[in-house]
Amino acid sequence: MKKFILTMILVLTLTQSFAQEKPDVVVSFFPLYDFTRNIDGDRIDLTSLIPFSVEPHDWEPGPRDMVKVSSADIFIYNGAGLEPWADDIIKSVRNKKLKVVDISKSIRVTGEDPHIWLDPILVKSQLKVIKDTLIGYDSENRTYYDKNYNVYLKKIEELDREIRKTIARCKKKVFVTSHDAFSRFAERYGLTQVPVMGISPESEPSPRELAGIIETIKRYDVRYIFTEPFIPIKIAESISRETGVKILVLDPIEGLTEEEMKSGADYLFKMKKNLENLKIALEYE
Ligand SMILES: [Zn+2]
Repeated sequence: MKKFILTMILVLTLTQSFAQEKPDVVVSFFPLYDFTRNIDGDRIDLTSLIPFSVEPHDWEPGPRDMVKVSSADIFIYNGAGLEPWADDIIKSVRNKKLKVVDISKSIRVTGEDPHIWLDPILVKSQLKVIKDTLIGYDSENRTYYDKNYNVYLKKIEELDREIRKTIARCKKKVFVTSHDAFSRFAERYGLTQVPVMGISPESEPSPRELAGIIETIKRYDVRYIFTEPFIPIKIAESISRETGVKILVLDPIEGLTEEEMKSGADYLFKMKKNLENLKIALEYE
């Protein structure tokens, strides 16, 4: 019996020390979760602060979220204004060992637009920052992280090539979106995005702005406008009634719907789906 108890204590201690060694990484929202998951496999405990089913621009942290961050080893967030609450959380954290990474600062993006994950070239830089951060904390698994990183990097490069090839064969270069999420994407691929709303989906257009959008639709002979999963379709519907344009989805990939969670949809899947709808709207030949 004594022997059994001693063995149990040993097993428990070992399990505990293993559990403690697994880095506890908190990221702010879905794309960073997906990117990190692809690099870490299962060697870290990974949590997304913002639930996948929530639109992140207006999310606010509660006391439990503060605890999650302060008990983590690494906190990675997007930056560039997506998480205006991040500074306050970081200041209030007592854990001096917490490694904080503002991705937008690490990859030195210019401009205020936070939607850096929609530009695959910037995603490549994001992946490197995530990989280096994990290795910096857990160098024993360097080879493992490097290997996963290279596999996923190739997939992102392939996506970039696919977008370029597709856009090159599209007749139209102007597209109308819901909120201003695709500026970086548009700039990367030589397109023009006309957003109906601002950087955050909260800001609705004034009647004058709406008239401007309708004018653009007529001028460029736009036949389709885009909506997205987490915001009401109301404005798009009224533009559609006014101009006869059809409505398609262009997903800013800020979260996952319940259906997507069940089907295991990820960043790459959603980007490819976006490309399919862009093909229709931009008249792929
Ligand atoms: Zn957004």
